[in-house]
Amino acid sequence: MTNKNDMTSKKRKIYTMAPRKPIYEGKAKQLFEGPEPGTLIQHFKDDATAFNNEKKGTINGKGVLNNRISEYLMLRLHDMGIPTHFIRSLNMREQLIKAVQIVPLEIIVRNYVAGSFAKRFNVQEGKALGHPMIEYCYKNDALGDPFVTEEHIFAFNWCTPQEMDEIRMYAFRINDFLSGLFAGIGIRLVDFKLEFGRLYENDREMIILADEISPDNCRLWDIKSGKKLDKDRFRQDLGQIEDAYREVARRLGVLPNEGGESSYVIEVNAKVPAKRKSSAKKIAAKKSVAIKSKPSKTKKKK
Ligand code: C5P
Repeated sequence: MTNKNDMTSKKRKIYTMAPRKPIYEGKAKQLFEGPEPGTLIQHFKDDATAFNNEKKGTINGKGVLNNRISEYLMLRLHDMGIPTHFIRSLNMREQLIKAVQIVPLEIIVRNYVAGSFAKRFNVQEGKALGHPMIEYCYKNDALGDPFVTEEHIFAFNWCTPQEMDEIRMYAFRINDFLSGLFAGIGIRLVDFKLEFGRLYENDREMIILADEISPDNCRLWDIKSGKKLDKDRFRQDLGQIEDAYREVARRLGVLPNEGGESSYVIEVNAKVPAKRKSSAKKIAAKKSVAIKSKPSKTKKKK
């Protein structure tokens, strides 16, 4: 029989759980030890930085949106055969990922001229490139993430030629897929940054996609208006930063409490009173989204 004291001790247990072991804290994300060996918890923060940490700020709700956007894109990429570190979503700001050894390179894919490329070559932003291209930066904050070539990469042994071939192949495939996906929701994928890692599994080493894909590391412009829907709004003080991230999530259909994902939030929170649950189901049915039915407690008791 449960009594009041049992409930209190249960509650107390929740609050006295051992703190999670932090593994790494980056500018926009934090990594904690995962529940099983070989896993990590990736926590998305609202913090934003630009120009190698010179500019710092907070974008309210960014962590929640980036978690959802990145989850969605990683799952779509997995569906088309790109191996990724994403395992499953844990809550609004966190996802379980596979622990990998990060290749110390930022893989930048460009379709249109923008950002540092526009400055370096003094070319007007927005000009379409003859074909998609890849640039590499060495991940090193102290050095300001310098651009490097394959010569540097192999000379410093940051990655083998075989790994580089795989990374390039994945990067172009990801670009093709994401360009189409974003075009379908009226967004131009101007450029973006990827990171890859080495996964050691069953005595095998494989290259998989890591980090995140979100408006923090992609340039996303509205096709009709040209409006920037990404971190450039923060970098360039353009305002309406949260709105831009929210707009990307909304068009992808993953905005919390709106569109198809509302049913997901209902399930995760699982606090919908019985009466309201049926109306929530009706709403979800209208939006053609199935609510994953939880085994009901009453059924279990029977
Ligand atoms: O600044 P730059 O034009 O070189 O950036 C190219 C792309 O890579 C942009 O989408 C930018 O958001 C992303 N990027 C990033 N992290 C960096 C550098 C660039 O996500 N450290």
